[in-house]
Amino acid sequence: MFSVTKIEYLMVYTHGGLPIYSKCFGHFCQTAFKNPELLTGLLSALESIPPTLGDGLSLEAVKMGYTTMRFSKVMPGGQSVVIGLSEDDLATAEAVFNGVKQLFELDKFKDVDWGYVRRDIVDAFTQELVDRVLVDVMHERGGFHDECPLGDMCPMHTRADTADSRGIWSIIRSKYDELRRRMRAKMGE
Ligand SMILES: [Zn+2]
Repeated sequence: MFSVTKIEYLMVYTHGGLPIYSKCFGHFCQTAFKNPELLTGLLSALESIPPTLGDGLSLEAVKMGYTTMRFSKVMPGGQSVVIGLSEDDLATAEAVFNGVKQLFELDKFKDVDWGYVRRDIVDAFTQELVDRVLVDVMHERGGFHDECPLGDMCPMHTRADTADSRGIWSIIRSKYDELRRRMRAKMGE
């Protein structure tokens, strides 16, 4: 049967686990909210990806709820890319990894210290990543749109310039805790 692969989420972070950019682009963040085991699974998978792995597609496809997650260490600098696709689609995963790799190789990004980065650089990186790389990669695969209904409030949304010195997994975890608190407050518990 014909099915179109969708990018459900993308996470880019430093060798030390600090976020560069991450977000979901579908309903994964909400599915994980309703499904604590899925969230725990995702966060512990992220946390346990060994920083010492070499280049390339170092992990087999991991089933994460309705998504297939793949991981790659894209640069000698050790930046990592995690992608969740709606299908087990190696070709699309590789196209995304290559696109991100080329982005890091651009003059304006290749010497950036993502631990101490200015907002305009993260803006430029994010814009090229989402509006160019993902759009180009998905152009002949059904197109790319950010369909997450929470927009920038998506709990999987992280950026290097607004993050403190915590790992991407603990930032996402506390965003979910915050979301949960707000939901409870709304329901008057
Ligand atoms: Zn989301």
